[in-house]
Amino acid sequence: MKAIYLDYNATTPVDPQVLAAMLPFFTEQFGNPASSGHSFGWQAEQAVQKARAQIATSIGALPHEIFFTSGATESNNWVVRGLLETARQPLHFITSPTEHSSILSAFKWLEGQSNVEVSWAPVNKYGQVSVDDVAKLIRPTTRLMSFMWVNNETGSLNPILQLTKLAKENKIYLHSDATQAVGKIPVHVENSLVDLLSLSGHKIYGPKGVGALFIRSRNPKVQISPLLLGGGQERGLRAGTLNVPGIVGLGEACSIAAAVQQQESMRQAGLRDLLQQNLVESFPGLQINGHPDERSPNTLNVTFKGYVVPAQIAAIAISRGSACNSESMRASPVLQALGLSETDAQNTLRLSLGRSTSKEDILATIGILRQVIQAKNSQA
Ligand code: PMP
Repeated sequence: MKAIYLDYNATTPVDPQVLAAMLPFFTEQFGNPASSGHSFGWQAEQAVQKARAQIATSIGALPHEIFFTSGATESNNWVVRGLLETARQPLHFITSPTEHSSILSAFKWLEGQSNVEVSWAPVNKYGQVSVDDVAKLIRPTTRLMSFMWVNNETGSLNPILQLTKLAKENKIYLHSDATQAVGKIPVHVENSLVDLLSLSGHKIYGPKGVGALFIRSRNPKVQISPLLLGGGQERGLRAGTLNVPGIVGLGEACSIAAAVQQQESMRQAGLRDLLQQNLVESFPGLQINGHPDERSPNTLNVTFKGYVVPAQIAAIAISRGSACNSESMRASPVLQALGLSETDAQNTLRLSLGRSTSKEDILATIGILRQVIQAKNSQA
């Protein structure tokens, strides 16, 4: 029997319409967009321009503010490294401990650089930062604050609109990792006034290995140094022959995500709430780790307090709150920041819904979790 897939925050399948748009660019339309002397190149360049415009429109940006990368990890790393060289040091950067590992690791690297200081904003029990706490950390040398829009593990939202206001007042760049926000909640760079924003194809029914970084070009124009040097692609900031099929797929995926976001978010939130309510009733003491309301519509992260969750639940594809290292099961950094113990993290599951999730999937999941967790605990 095929497992029920409830791990859409890890990755999503490619939408058939996205795949159809991509396919010609592997074969007949294989040109290099940098080949400006013939029709193969022009065709590819046109497709890239179309994708850039699709992505820009979907987030309220201008096409020339979209830079293609290999995914959100690269976009996040670029922001951190790219802002180091463009201002006089010493420099100060702010983030929080509930960010994705691509921000956490980049900030840990920053901490090791001379003339650079990093502050970690505290988070509440849902993993969110508060504007007042962040305001206290600002210094005259602060260059960048980086806060994710939606947390990949808990689904909790950060107060991005208030944080950008704070950043503007203090003339600091605000970067948001919106990888888990695009397609789930409205993401608009003019309404929110973020300066830099990361997104990724494979979280929004596009292909893996392609993403984008939005870099604001006015009010203010963000000064960032090139990530890769070479043939001058991407306005000299990120060299390398463009991944045309991937870019076409990302463009199509962004257009579809913007078109269906509102309706899908309502539908998925309804199913997620059904799941949550049934689990709360079935497992007294169940702890919900994301914010009750300020949360992505598709995500449910729960700790089965007082129960032992079996190590394997083959019938459902879900993500766990802990990862093995050689000696023990360690809570994920996000759950550690929320104050969960290793035992609690071992009994924590993240269930994330997507466009193909049906009510039948949710009802079956409730039945399976009741069965496997209750069976395990009656043995214990
Ligand atoms: N940021 C967040 C919030 C994510 O969830 C992920 C993917 N797990 C990434 C960044 C990294 O994205 P990519 O896989 O495109 O490198």
